[in-house]
Amino acid sequence: MEYFLVFYFGCIIGSFLNVVILRLPKEEGLNGRSYCFSCGHALSWVDLFPLFSYLCLFGKCRYCKKTFSPRYFLIELVTGLLFLAAFIFLKPDSLLGYLALLKYAIALSALVVVFMVDLEHLLIFDNVLLAAGLPVLAINVLTDYMGRYSFLSLSGQTMGGLFAGGLFAGIFFLLWLVSKGAWIGFGDVKLMLVLGLVLGWPVTAAAWLLAYFLGTAFALPLLVLGKKHLSSRLPFGCFLSVAAALCLFYGQQLIAWYLRYVGF
Ligand SMILES: [Zn+2]
Repeated sequence: MEYFLVFYFGCIIGSFLNVVILRLPKEEGLNGRSYCFSCGHALSWVDLFPLFSYLCLFGKCRYCKKTFSPRYFLIELVTGLLFLAAFIFLKPDSLLGYLALLKYAIALSALVVVFMVDLEHLLIFDNVLLAAGLPVLAINVLTDYMGRYSFLSLSGQTMGGLFAGGLFAGIFFLLWLVSKGAWIGFGDVKLMLVLGLVLGWPVTAAAWLLAYFLGTAFALPLLVLGKKHLSSRLPFGCFLSVAAALCLFYGQQLIAWYLRYVGF
């Protein structure tokens, strides 16, 4: 029951993320009613019940019977599953545990939006990064304060986050500067800063490497098949988002594995 509530809460957030993903690139506000893109009919709350509305109506608009894209359903489902995974992974039983869960929920929600918008528009929006970065920074400070960790230690969340974010955003900034924006976009620089705050030190390093690995694994077959050229822009924010989400759960293991691999 607990698991279902967490999962379904995630689906409701996912339903909100759908609106953000859709409207942000169009510079529409988040307040107006949702409507069917085909017939323009305003959708009521019955049509917007996460997951169930889609399933009950077989993915069709109730008014004009046009099929909705399954992406809305998928984003709700994925967000629900990510929230559930975070809950099971963190097993919160104290205030500190719930703070960590809140941080995961904010970070994962932002990553879903960054992934989708970068995939479609090759853009990363500042307000998404701010909406995630500022609360995460506050949670980091609060966690260190409540857990009596040192604010100055790299293993603390505050300093670890600022150091990791600053270091890797700095590296990206240099790459951006040297290549005049050809290798990576400035949005990636800012995203890296937020990922540093989320993942801390040294997990950010693992996410950074993993993103390059994923990007290469994805781009090589396309290059070989001639579908993309070296100059084609890849949505690097997508690889960063996936890598960061994986590292929220497996970052420590990845680092342990890597250190064993190189012989430490
Ligand atoms: Zn319709």
